[in-house]
Amino acid sequence: MPHQTTVASHFDVIIVGAGFSGIYLVHRCVTAGMSVRCYERGDGVGGTWYWNRYPGARCDVESMEYSYGFDEALQQEWEWPEKYSAQPDILRYANHVADRFDVKRHIEFETEVKSAHFDPVSRLWSVQTDHAQTITAKFVVMATGCISTAQVPEIEGLSQFKGETYHTGAWPHEKVDFNGKRVAVIGTGSSGIQAIPEIAKEADHLTVFQRTANFSIPTRNAPMTAEYSRSWKEGYANKRELMRNSHQGNTRPRGEKSALEVNAEERRATLEAQWKNGGSGFLAAFNDILTSQPANDTMSEFVRNKIFEIVKDKRAAEILAPKSHPIGTKRICVDSGYYETFNRDNVDLIDISQEPIERMTESGICVGDNLYEFDTVVFATGFDAMTGTLFNIDIRGRNGLALKEKWVAGPRTYLGLMSEGFPNLFMITGPGSPSVKSNMLTSIEQHVELVVHTMVHMRAENFELIEPEISAEDKWVDHVQEVAHKTLFPQANSWYMGANIPGKPRLFMPYIAGVGTYRRICEEVVADGYRGFRLERLPSAAAAE
Ligand code: NAP
Repeated sequence: MPHQTTVASHFDVIIVGAGFSGIYLVHRCVTAGMSVRCYERGDGVGGTWYWNRYPGARCDVESMEYSYGFDEALQQEWEWPEKYSAQPDILRYANHVADRFDVKRHIEFETEVKSAHFDPVSRLWSVQTDHAQTITAKFVVMATGCISTAQVPEIEGLSQFKGETYHTGAWPHEKVDFNGKRVAVIGTGSSGIQAIPEIAKEADHLTVFQRTANFSIPTRNAPMTAEYSRSWKEGYANKRELMRNSHQGNTRPRGEKSALEVNAEERRATLEAQWKNGGSGFLAAFNDILTSQPANDTMSEFVRNKIFEIVKDKRAAEILAPKSHPIGTKRICVDSGYYETFNRDNVDLIDISQEPIERMTESGICVGDNLYEFDTVVFATGFDAMTGTLFNIDIRGRNGLALKEKWVAGPRTYLGLMSEGFPNLFMITGPGSPSVKSNMLTSIEQHVELVVHTMVHMRAENFELIEPEISAEDKWVDHVQEVAHKTLFPQANSWYMGANIPGKPRLFMPYIAGVGTYRRICEEVVADGYRGFRLERLPSAAAAE
């Protein structure tokens, strides 16, 4: 992708990131007649799907749903090859959309935004990139994604390791060859669970280092059939509407019964049917899996039993069977042959829950008295989620206040969209919005449309600045926590809670009252004259009123 250089130095809107949020934002802003510049550190569009190229990378939301719904012709013409798409197909789609709507000419690739400072005198944001450019804009929109800062743990001796190292979230563009290699994978979250079966097929030997056992459900992926695709395309209008008003931004039905109101036989039959059906919809088999410990226990036990059925080595099955958290409170994983992989002769599993990785040497990984030697180490160790990428940029609002300082005890937003003290700075799927606890595409579209609607409204009404009122923000932060604490989610040491990053404040970051509920709240806020936001006109415009 050719690197473009900004000629103009002022835009109505600066967008940071050219993933699914950034692509759609550029399109909407340009259509609304705004001048816009998008900065992207990669050399292409796609965000998550640009960076996460590890073997086995695949979306756990069905493609017919994990796609844009804003343009009828687009959703009618695009053909997905599989029910759950693999990373290359999703990246192809992102490029198709960006080309179809002529978005790329507004994007400066291989350009990282280093800082964004608000100037209270000019009332503009001043943005600096790693190309030493300074650009001003009335609005800045952080389309930086929720899981975009890869996290490599600080392991003593890591830099001395002579072999190759990779992180799933920053995978090379070229194929990584595992043939004939002794490979380690550290981490058994969604990424590790997808990569492990693929690496095992190729490597001479694979050793998996597991700190926390995770629940994983078979995907049951299949090629897309013409009939299935047609059924979606004929009903897209209704289906998208259903998604927008659903709990998680998808069309998945939620179980109507409690796991405890049915007898053991009916419960098992329901879970068996869901297991056979596959996918993360498994969690929706009953309506109280994430709110009732006894209900959750029944499902957790069912999956543990499945692991014992699949994995032949009882010692390995014991290690793989999760016991430390209720099912679903860490992001549920989906897989293609994950547990079966541990039946292979070339795969070993090391439990590091009690005895962590102590250090790395030139040749491998030390746990206790044992040194395991490798040619390649793959870190599937996750991300500094939701706040990490924002904190990597020096964002300063009124009075020079740094976002990182303001959020020192955890993110503080109103509606997950804005933070008080940072006027005209929007976040797409920010902390405090459904974001990662929803179909991201549904939530991205809602936020992009809301942000652009707000900017257009401000232009029409001569408003210069928008910013949350502190009281509205404080109430929202409390509300997000209150909703989370009615569930089992806070029990797990999950990245939703910031628990995967040493020293990160522990609080539940996404808003989980539901996508439909959240949308209605946002609509009411707008209909009520942007309740909870302060809109300011220029002094001269205000005087002329
Ligand atoms: P993750 O869920 O945070 O998993 C990271 C793994 O690395 C965990 O098993 C973690 O153990 C382990 N780990 C971290 N630091 C470690 C250390 N110092 N020593 C040993 N183990 C360590 O990250 P991820 O798998 O990349 O997934 C992140 C999110 O991306 C997912 O939850 C999902 O939202 C998204 N994702 C989605 C898909 C999909 O659509 N199918 C695929 C991949 C990712 P602990 O659990 O003990 O912390």
